[in-house]
Amino acid sequence: MTSLNKVFADLPVTIFEAMSQAARDNNAINLGQGFPDGPGPEDIRRAAADAVLNGYNQYPSMMGIPELRQAIAAHYRHWHRLDLDPMTEVMVTSGGTEALTSAILAVVESGDEVIVFQPVYDSYLPIIRQAGGIPRLLRLEPPHWRLSEEMLKSAFTAKTKAVLFNNPLNPAAVVYPREDLELLARYCQEFDAIAICDEVWEHVVFDGREHIPLITIPGMRDRTIKVGSAGKIFSLTGWKIGFVCAAPALLRVAAKVHQFLTFTTAPNLQAAVAYGLGKPDDYFHDMRKDLARSRDRLTAGLERIGFPVLKSQGTYFLTVDLSPLKLNETDLAFCKRIVTDYKVAAIPVSAFYEKDPVTTVVRFCFAKNDATLDAALERLSDAVHRR
Ligand code: GLN
Repeated sequence: MTSLNKVFADLPVTIFEAMSQAARDNNAINLGQGFPDGPGPEDIRRAAADAVLNGYNQYPSMMGIPELRQAIAAHYRHWHRLDLDPMTEVMVTSGGTEALTSAILAVVESGDEVIVFQPVYDSYLPIIRQAGGIPRLLRLEPPHWRLSEEMLKSAFTAKTKAVLFNNPLNPAAVVYPREDLELLARYCQEFDAIAICDEVWEHVVFDGREHIPLITIPGMRDRTIKVGSAGKIFSLTGWKIGFVCAAPALLRVAAKVHQFLTFTTAPNLQAAVAYGLGKPDDYFHDMRKDLARSRDRLTAGLERIGFPVLKSQGTYFLTVDLSPLKLNETDLAFCKRIVTDYKVAAIPVSAFYEKDPVTTVVRFCFAKNDATLDAALERLSDAVHRR
C-alpha cells in the first residue's frame, strides 16, 4: 500500500489509552489516565439532562452557544479580572485537545520554530510537526521543574514563532509562580512570539496557591492563546468541552481551524457547563479541598510503603521518584510490572519526553474515592521490592 502520513503513521497509541487498556486487560485499579471515579456534580449533570430533553439539540453556532461564551467571559472576569469579549475572544471546542490543535494550526507554518518544554503533553509535537513547525525542546528538571533565564535564552531566536506552555504542569504537578510567567512573557515580547497556554488544570490548584493565566501578565494580552477545559474544572472528563480565549486577530484564525476539525460541540453539554461556570466560589474551593485531601491520602500511603513522593501543587496527579529504590528498572518497566503483578495502573513520565527522557519518575492519579486509593495502596504494599 502507498505510504500514509508519517507524522501520524509512526506514532504509538497514547500512553493514556495504552495504560487504560492494560488496566482493563488486567482488571487493575486505574491510577493512570487522569479521570475521577465519581459521577461528577449532580446539578451540572441534571442541567445537561434537562437540556437534552427540553433544550436545543441541533447544530449550535460553531463558536459555541452564546450563553456559554458569556459564562466563560464572566468566569474569567470574576476569577482573574480578565476582560474578554464573549463574541470575538471566546470559542468553545470539543475538549482541550481540540482547542490546542486549533491554536497550533492557526499559528504555526512551515519552518516556524516552536518552543516546547519537556515533560511535554503528547498531543503537542505531532500537531506542531503536521503544521510544518520545528519543535525546539527545552527540559524542565525535577524536583522543581522551574523555568530559567538560561534555558529561554538558549532557545528563543528570530525564528521563534510560538511557545507552548502548560500551567499547571501535567505530569509534574507544578503551579508556576508569577516570577516564571514574567520571565516567559519577557522573552515572548522580546522575540515577538505567540504563547499558546494550556491551562486546563487552572482550577485544580492546592494549598491556597493561585493560578495566574499567562494572558494576564502585562504585555501578553494580545499574544496569548489561552486554552481551558470544563472536563477538568467539573470532574466530567468525558464531556470534552474546551475553550479557546484570545484577542480577535488570533481567535479568528483558530476558529477557521475549528470549523474543519469538529465544527461544533454538543449544545446540551455546553448549556450545562454555562450553568456550572456560574457556581459560587465555594464549589471551586471545595473541589480543591477534596482533591487535596485525596492527594494527601495517596501521598501518605505511598510514603508509608516507601515511595519517595514529589509533592503535587495542582492537577489530578502526583509523581514518585523511583531512583532511590534501586529497582534497576525504568519507569516504563515499573508501570508494566505493577499493572500485571499488582493490578494497579500508573503512567511512566518518560512518555512525556521525546529526547533524553527522565526514566525514574512515575505519575499516579489521586482523583479517586478513598476506597479506590486504599485498595490501590494495599495492592502496592510490597511494590518497592522486586518480586
Ligand atoms: N489529560 C489526561 C491525562 O493526562 C489524558 C487525556 C487523554 O487521554 N486524552 O491523563
